[in-house]
Amino acid sequence: MSWEENVRKVVPYVPGEQPKIDNLIKINTNENPYPPSPKVQKALSEYSSDDFRKYPDPTCAELVDALATVYSRKSSEIFVGVGSDDVLATAFLTFFNSDKPILFPDITYSFYDVWANVYRIPFKQMPLRADFSIDINDYMGENGGVVIANPNAPTGLELSTEFVEKIIEANRDVVVIVDEAYVDFGGKSVVDLIDKYDNLLVVRTFSKSRSLAGLRIGYAIGCEKLIKYMLDVKYSINSYTMNMPSLKLGAIAAYDKEYFELTTKKVIETREWTKKELKDLGFSFADSHTNFIFAKYNGEMSRDEIASKLRERKIIVRCFNGDKVKDYMRISIGTDEEMQTVIKELKDILK
Ligand SMILES: *Cc1c(COP(=O)(O)O)cnc(C)c1O
Repeated sequence: MSWEENVRKVVPYVPGEQPKIDNLIKINTNENPYPPSPKVQKALSEYSSDDFRKYPDPTCAELVDALATVYSRKSSEIFVGVGSDDVLATAFLTFFNSDKPILFPDITYSFYDVWANVYRIPFKQMPLRADFSIDINDYMGENGGVVIANPNAPTGLELSTEFVEKIIEANRDVVVIVDEAYVDFGGKSVVDLIDKYDNLLVVRTFSKSRSLAGLRIGYAIGCEKLIKYMLDVKYSINSYTMNMPSLKLGAIAAYDKEYFELTTKKVIETREWTKKELKDLGFSFADSHTNFIFAKYNGEMSRDEIASKLRERKIIVRCFNGDKVKDYMRISIGTDEEMQTVIKELKDILK
């Protein structure tokens, strides 16, 4: 008998790479190309290292209250964590304790099956249709919970509010998590439905639309009871999940509505321009409501060849493996200038 027999063995999630290369056009992990709110920079410069001597506020009140104000919710309806990855992991651990499988699409955020595995939660991946849309009938049977990324990643496709509600409605006896990581780029949120459904948890992040991936801030909105159960689990593992700067800078970013609207609008405009250019170059893609485009080239050259030629030109995109997605690359939306360069280089590669 070896200690290794009792190890919790898992196959970990593989995050997109963060290479240290100068002048790279990094469009592989859906980061925002614009800096965070200028108010964040200002507040950051006012820190003293002595501020870090004490523990941060375990209740995260500053950030929770800011989100409550900005989204017109009660503070007791908000949970914050170290990126939405932490929030989602906590939600999986808290709510998915059934012997029945939890359900999510076969093509979606590739962390869901990793959390299910690490927590030993049975799960079933429901196949998307050929056009990458969700068949809501797949989510009507008995299950241990449902997770839907909306808009979905890496496809970019949005499921209508009406259909999301049908899934929530059909699953009142389990928790339905709607991961709205990309909703701020022109998607439609279901957050208002939490008044109607106590089994709905909406999860969001500061990593994409608020340009703060490096600070690690995510949050969930749900009824008071759901949030209380998540807090109980959080306080059973780590009371001080959020560090002091995240609490303050996150709150400042949340309040800066004007800058947030300006930059998300800019990303949407650049996305629409990029769609048109990619189409002209012979790419096809599902209609994206996010800050990325999941595109397939319809000409001769293979995806991997295009991606490696882009890389030679210091442009990195994300490629996933698996039968249904092996011809697609996910292109995050950068600045106008960056996307013009990407299109110019693609034209040259494909000529
Ligand atoms: C990026 C992303 C997350 C994780 O975001 P963090 O807040 O940076 O942890 C969660 N879900 C989806 C669908 C994402 O694309």
